[in-house]
Amino acid sequence: MSPFWSPVVHGLTPYVPGEQPKIDGLIKLNTNECPYAPSDKVLQAIAAQVTGDLRLYPDPQASRLKAAIAGYHHLKPEQVFVGNGSDEVLAHAFMALLQHEAPLLHPDISYSFYPVYARLYGISTREIALRDDFSIAVDDFLQAGDNGGIIFPNPNAPTGMALPLAEVERLLAANPHSVVVVDEAYVDFGAQTAAALIDRHAQLLVVRTLSKAWALAGLRVGYALGHPALIEALSRVKDSFNSYPLDRLALAGAEAAMGDAAWLAQTQARIIDSRTRLAAGLQARGFEVLPSQANFVFARHPAHDGARLAAQLREHRILVRQFARPQRIADFLRITIGTPEQCDALLAALDTLFAAQTQAPR
Ligand SMILES: *Cc1c(COP(=O)(O)O)cnc(C)c1O
Repeated sequence: MSPFWSPVVHGLTPYVPGEQPKIDGLIKLNTNECPYAPSDKVLQAIAAQVTGDLRLYPDPQASRLKAAIAGYHHLKPEQVFVGNGSDEVLAHAFMALLQHEAPLLHPDISYSFYPVYARLYGISTREIALRDDFSIAVDDFLQAGDNGGIIFPNPNAPTGMALPLAEVERLLAANPHSVVVVDEAYVDFGAQTAAALIDRHAQLLVVRTLSKAWALAGLRVGYALGHPALIEALSRVKDSFNSYPLDRLALAGAEAAMGDAAWLAQTQARIIDSRTRLAAGLQARGFEVLPSQANFVFARHPAHDGARLAAQLREHRILVRQFARPQRIADFLRITIGTPEQCDALLAALDTLFAAQTQAPR
């Protein structure tokens, strides 16, 4: 607290990302990063930008990157917006498209950055409870009364569960008068994208990131796809805030990534294969594992407290994420899919922990 703070700062409760400790030999399965290095083509494209040209500003319109993203999705460049990570794209969407009288609707268990942006921009929100099986109930969104917008991740975070495209379409068809943001941070691991629906639904904004499937969390590139009128709203906010959110290295690296779909397909297959094996390994040890279409699994053990288990794994130098709230998910661990070796290390650590506990009753 300081007398120099503006009133808005007093009211903020910032988002807390998963920890990034500098500890050697740590197995980091807590922030949904890709365990593999990005494509060589991306690294070479970035290296080629490390020249005296760094004295020059980057392209404020990011025209080449937008063209590459449009080509990848079979859309037009005017249907693409790019930002410094999808978190920045989301922040601009909250201000440009979701700040209205009626409340913004989002699932009660969802990306915990949404309420943070809502507070920052003074947007009222209404949480819609997930069903008992942790799936999103589209009907509950449609019956919630007037809304100033709807936002949800697909697949949802931290459950990893995907909403079928037909359900997304049903939501769009019944909700034509406010913006629907589908946050597709994890869509590349087996879910269906809504990108093809934007030509038919002018209120749909699809948000994507290169941080997860493309292994570029450190580059900070995200983008949105939508009707040109939605994209213009985002651009107006961006150009009132920062003309150059993407630097020369990020622009070049992201453009190269969009041109290397083969790398993505190969990496997706490796992650999905490890996910299948990790889920089976956890189930074999008594965990309930939600059906994941993401690069993480969300799992709980009927006999073990979630927070305690996460702390014990940390002693074994394995980081996973656990959310104290809401209470309904407090016993779940969100475990990022690592390399096969990392997944095996996690299962081995669980075996050690569980064996020690059967010998010495709590
Ligand atoms: C990781 C994540 C993001 C943010 O990604 P960045 O592009 O790294 O900012 C957005 N939404 C969800 C649901 C995420 O999990």
